[in-house]
Amino acid sequence: MKKVKQAIIGKTELAETKGDTTNGKRCNTVSLTCIGCPMGCQVTVEMDGGDILGVTGYTCKRGLDYAQKEVTDPTRIVTSTVRVLGGAHPFVAVKTARDIPKGKIRDAMAALRGLAIPAPVSIGDVVLPDTFGLGCEVVATQNCGAG
Ligand code: SF4
Repeated sequence: MKKVKQAIIGKTELAETKGDTTNGKRCNTVSLTCIGCPMGCQVTVEMDGGDILGVTGYTCKRGLDYAQKEVTDPTRIVTSTVRVLGGAHPFVAVKTARDIPKGKIRDAMAALRGLAIPAPVSIGDVVLPDTFGLGCEVVATQNCGAG
């Protein structure tokens, strides 16, 4: 039985994106709310196409790292529920063991929707191995005994 530490899952707000053309290049300003801690700093990223020109508004390096990753390689931990067969409850809560690309979230949700696992289920049990070819497991975040 594998134990996976529960991660803090936050929400990102892409509050504003403005487009402008400077010297024939596409420049954008992306405004983010950092999810690194409850301060929720408002971070602004100046972009030139796919290149980052500058980042402002963060209070610590965690915010800088978050903003740079969010505009170049956004990822999320996916949480959902999976049907339990013969369980005390019909569903159990699950999550990906690590964050996955945002573009794979729809595939992840579709795979979990069709999944059913037998009771009992313990926190940390792997309910779906190597999900979506990303080397990422889906694990239970809730216990569910036999019904
Ligand atoms: S930049 Fe740092 S202080 Fe601000 S919300 Fe992010 S983690 Fe918290």
